[in-house]
Amino acid sequence: MLNITETQQKLAAAFGPSGQESEAAGVIAEMAKPHCDEVYTDRLGNLIAYKKGAGKAKVMFSAHMDSLGLIVTHIDEKGFLWFSNIGGISVWRIYGSAVRFQNGTRGIVFMGGKADAKDPKTADLYIDIGAKDEESARNAVFVGDVAVFDQPTFPIGDGLLASPYLDDRIACAALLAAMEGLPECENDLYFVFSSQEELGIRGAKTAAYGIDPDYGFAVDVTGTGDTPDHKPKTECKLRGGAAVKIMDASVICHPKVVAWLEEAAERENIPHQREILIGGGTDAGAIHVSRAGVYTGAISIPTRYVHNPLEVCAIGDVEACIKLVRAACNISL
Ligand SMILES: [Zn+2]
Repeated sequence: MLNITETQQKLAAAFGPSGQESEAAGVIAEMAKPHCDEVYTDRLGNLIAYKKGAGKAKVMFSAHMDSLGLIVTHIDEKGFLWFSNIGGISVWRIYGSAVRFQNGTRGIVFMGGKADAKDPKTADLYIDIGAKDEESARNAVFVGDVAVFDQPTFPIGDGLLASPYLDDRIACAALLAAMEGLPECENDLYFVFSSQEELGIRGAKTAAYGIDPDYGFAVDVTGTGDTPDHKPKTECKLRGGAAVKIMDASVICHPKVVAWLEEAAERENIPHQREILIGGGTDAGAIHVSRAGVYTGAISIPTRYVHNPLEVCAIGDVEACIKLVRAACNISL
């Protein structure tokens, strides 16, 4: 049985900001191959693992493999790198954090002295890679190169896991675990590791069009309301089990799919809870409006500090999500 912590460690270490997912895709493809009939990529960079079933219907699961990143826009005369964001990054979350480029160059994010301390912008931040001058910096990094968070993955507290990019590598790990030793299903299965979710759910759009599924499930992290003085008030929490999405800013999950998931969870004693994500979306947003419409739901992993350099989830919730994904392979409405 695949070890969740080790798999997350491996996946989080794979470079894969939105639009440049090939390194992460390579790592996932190697892990997926033994458990499916075919692994292929489409032109947008989605990795699709297909497992043939009895052909009753087509079920698509989608976990995005892209991550947030910092794209270099300018290298100044002192060798500091200025950047723009790839995906939803806010200044206070990344200030002071360690980052790395695909070629191994490491750096630290800090703020220019002219920034308005009350309202700093991403444009006020720079990356210090320790270069002695502009030439040295330009030898290490090009304009257009992307840095990702450089943090370790480690267990904390009572069954929790801290890691960069739990969003959404932990869901990629969950899909890989669900595929392991999966008996043949009634349905044909497509496990999609999608590209460019963080830029507006782009990969899932072409994947869903290409696959033309009858049923679709996004598997992604979701925010929780279980930290001090959390606003807005929301009930989703760590250690509460797999979160069955009701809605977010991109989708209202089909009521029949929500009911089916909740019944399956009850029947199989899978801990579960309901989830409404206020702001933010998932691949379900693209899947449900594909072609003439797809019966769509989402299985979410409750996660604290989403889009921070370190995020936190509960291993037990990941295990519950794996079980619910395996159950959903046999969905029939
Ligand atoms: Zn996500």
